[in-house]
Amino acid sequence: MNPHLSRLLADILLDRRNGHRRRVVERFRRLEHFDCLGPDRRELNRRSRLAALLTSAAEHVPNFQPLLKGRMIHADNALELLGDLPPMTREEIQSDPVRFVSDAAEDVREDYTGGSTGTPLRFLVDGETHRAREASLMWADSLAGWRPGERIAMLWGSDRDVASATGRLRLALRWWIENRRWYNAFDMSERQMESYHRAMTRFRPHLIVAYAGAVYELACYLAQRGLRPAYPERAIVSSAEVLTAAMRERVETVFGRPVFDRYGNREAGAIAAECDAHAGLHVNEYDFIVEVDSPDPYRRPGRLLMTYLANYAMPLIRYDTGDLALLAEGSCSCGRRTQRLARIVGRSSDIIVTRGGKRIHGEYFTHLMYGVDGVRRFQFIQDGLDDYRLLLEREGRGPDAGVIGRLRARLQEALGPEARVRIEIRDQLDKLPSGKFRFTVSRLAEECSRR
Ligand SMILES: [Zn+2]
Repeated sequence: MNPHLSRLLADILLDRRNGHRRRVVERFRRLEHFDCLGPDRRELNRRSRLAALLTSAAEHVPNFQPLLKGRMIHADNALELLGDLPPMTREEIQSDPVRFVSDAAEDVREDYTGGSTGTPLRFLVDGETHRAREASLMWADSLAGWRPGERIAMLWGSDRDVASATGRLRLALRWWIENRRWYNAFDMSERQMESYHRAMTRFRPHLIVAYAGAVYELACYLAQRGLRPAYPERAIVSSAEVLTAAMRERVETVFGRPVFDRYGNREAGAIAAECDAHAGLHVNEYDFIVEVDSPDPYRRPGRLLMTYLANYAMPLIRYDTGDLALLAEGSCSCGRRTQRLARIVGRSSDIIVTRGGKRIHGEYFTHLMYGVDGVRRFQFIQDGLDDYRLLLEREGRGPDAGVIGRLRARLQEALGPEARVRIEIRDQLDKLPSGKFRFTVSRLAEECSRR
């Protein structure tokens, strides 16, 4: 569909309740405008909004009440107060979620993440957060040259929020109006990739937004068959896992278009994104205060802590993302003066290949863990063509028999009837020597150049 028509239809038909769509678009414009402000105005704005968040947390969130008790909070001292607070982790929230929820929260919904380090988490978002997350993704896509209404091909995991057939129909209609098409990254079999290629050739997306590993798989498949895709028209946005230099080069060569890396999470949307200078990722400073917890954050990677200025229902203040990062020095040639991340040492996962030739992206397993209670962390391991293990680190009393049964049934469905699946409950799972955690491991994993 023509981008102008898509914008028009979306404005008329989508999310008019509470002016949701209008407010998302307004917020997106604010994000774009914020990047162009001078450092003093940005700083002042962030300090005042941080002060408002800390004040609300001090009054309404049990975790922060003792930490901020008796402290005067205002724009001038907000950043210093922030520095005095201890970082918060997913594990802490998991073990006592009520302590992190505001007693004044309104218009709240529950959401899940599989967690960047294999730590599943249930969290709450309010209406403002919901809009902020949507607007942040538009902002990240716009840094890659996309304009509202332009066609986007999503090579992404399925959305499990949509349970009913009516829900699925509504979502399909919505995506059609928004000029988006979805290609399931959880099924990257050769037959599927061939059909994705044909469908994208017809659709002519301006942008492909994809898991780094999934678009790399597609690029490998196309290269092996000598196929030259005539899409996307502008760029590829890579997200959700680490994009290595070799992956980027391969994808850019096959598609003949630049790759823009993006960093974000389910809790908060797009945190940082690459501009066309490709010299690190600009932080979304309107929504986040980002810190790299290292004695030398420009040279030695440290924990990436984020303070999310949008969510008052369950404030994430110095929240440990589970990823490590380095800050970029100097200013960017694009003219934006915002903070940049030079590199993110983030999540990594292997693609699981079944006997039936199905190629399942690692993100499938994080989606599998959405809303599962009693699990601190998980790891999925493929030991052989038919042998699989799901390792679960126990939280409290651990997952109950009903949960285990449901996980087993879904895994069997995904992996095929011949798969032997073992589910093991452990007191503790091992990390990699780097301190990072690989949440899917395939002992059969092969690089596409060797296939
Ligand atoms: Zn830039």
